[in-house]
Amino acid sequence: MSKSYDNIIIGSGITGLTIAKLLNNKNEDYLIIDKNNSVGGKLSTENHLGYELDCGFQILLEDYPNLKIFPEIYNLESKRLSSGFITIKQENFYKILNPFKNIKGLSPANTFPGFTLKDKYLLLKLILLNKKYKNKKIPVKDFLKNFGFSHTFIKNFFVSFFQGVFLSKGLNVPLKYFLFIFSLFSKSNVSIPINGIGQIAKNIASLLDSSKIIFNKEIINIGINSIKTKDGDNFNFKNLYCTDPKIEKLINKELNQEFFKDITYNGTQCFYFISDMVDINEDFIYLFPDSNNITNIYFKKASQNKLLVSVSSLSMEVSKNTIEKEILSYFSSMKNIRFLNSYKIPDALPSNPKFFNFQEKSFYKYNNNIYFAGDYLSSPCLDGAIQSGINLVESLRK
Ligand SMILES: Cc1cc2nc3c(=O)[nH]c(=O)nc-3n(C[C@H](O)[C@H](O)[C@H](O)COP(=O)(O)OP(=O)(O)OC[C@H]3O[C@@H](n4cnc5c(N)ncnc54)[C@H](O)[C@@H]3O)c2cc1C
Repeated sequence: MSKSYDNIIIGSGITGLTIAKLLNNKNEDYLIIDKNNSVGGKLSTENHLGYELDCGFQILLEDYPNLKIFPEIYNLESKRLSSGFITIKQENFYKILNPFKNIKGLSPANTFPGFTLKDKYLLLKLILLNKKYKNKKIPVKDFLKNFGFSHTFIKNFFVSFFQGVFLSKGLNVPLKYFLFIFSLFSKSNVSIPINGIGQIAKNIASLLDSSKIIFNKEIINIGINSIKTKDGDNFNFKNLYCTDPKIEKLINKELNQEFFKDITYNGTQCFYFISDMVDINEDFIYLFPDSNNITNIYFKKASQNKLLVSVSSLSMEVSKNTIEKEILSYFSSMKNIRFLNSYKIPDALPSNPKFFNFQEKSFYKYNNNIYFAGDYLSSPCLDGAIQSGINLVESLRK
């Protein structure tokens, strides 16, 4: 016999959890169904040989505006990063501090070969006045060039830093979204939960009724009022909330609009190594503007004398051996480096701006009782996923 629910949410990622929390606040009944064996979706951490490895390097911007609906996140034990980055040029490392958050960032010593005083002045101007430019319809790189930044600053700061955020070398995101993220990185604290990024989802889910989340159930078919799972279960719904655009493929032919057929993604690979401790600075992310393989490296002390090395790459082809060789070329004192694991995520961040409704109505009412929500309809980050869930549930009141 089929079980019936007023509201069924497919997906226990941050979008699904947002919808569940807000329905719960309205005393509405709901059930979350996920094909995975735990909450979080893309926000996941795996324990591998005793090390907590994020399935793709991710950070939390503490000032994301929509985080306020989950105040529990601020209680997580987290490592706060310093605002700035460390970058390499011809075997020399340079620590660059964010002048907006650290006065030392204005010192002439806080520089990199080719960064000019004008670049620093323009950076402060853009931090202070970024809202003024948000409605311009122009590619990000052209905007930065027209703003007056030097070629060296664009390549070694803007591209090198933000390619790791947008997973796109071309910084191919709408200017409005770029300016929003740039402004947050300039002003907000940036942190990573000590036990991994997946803790964010686990922490949110711990405040929901665990009997209302079912795992290891993959939906394979969606009809007008019912869904079918791979293991043969049926559920009836009054309203259905789908949090992944790929779910559209499961909707019966007569209802299917092929609305999301053009969805595209930017991908990434993340490699983890363990090595003996070396003299690095765990408070900063390391950038590699001249590398074709490595976008950034984050180091974390794993024990008294061991270092966990998390390497992100935009190349979907590069091998662990190539990455290891390149790490050793930068950090020659690194001893006993050992590969732990790697994650290839071709569909990491949705990239088709056609679907982005950044800071606007960011969900899709598919028909009378089927809705889609998620970062792909809003903006490709945690804040976007939460925004989409909020907008969807708010629309139900009307
Ligand atoms: C490598 C990487 C790096 C990122 N870096 C950052 C970052 O630094 N900062 C930031 O803010 N954001 C970052 N993001 C983006 C952020 O993680 C996502 O925006 C957010 O997690 C998306 O949440 P979601 O709930 O919309 O989708 P998802 O997390 O994709 O959730 C969808 C859920 O639906 C389930 N599902 C799908 N199909 C079915 C089915 N047929 N049956 C049952 N269940 C199904 C899936 O199992 C999944 O749990 C990154 C993402 C990745 C992958």
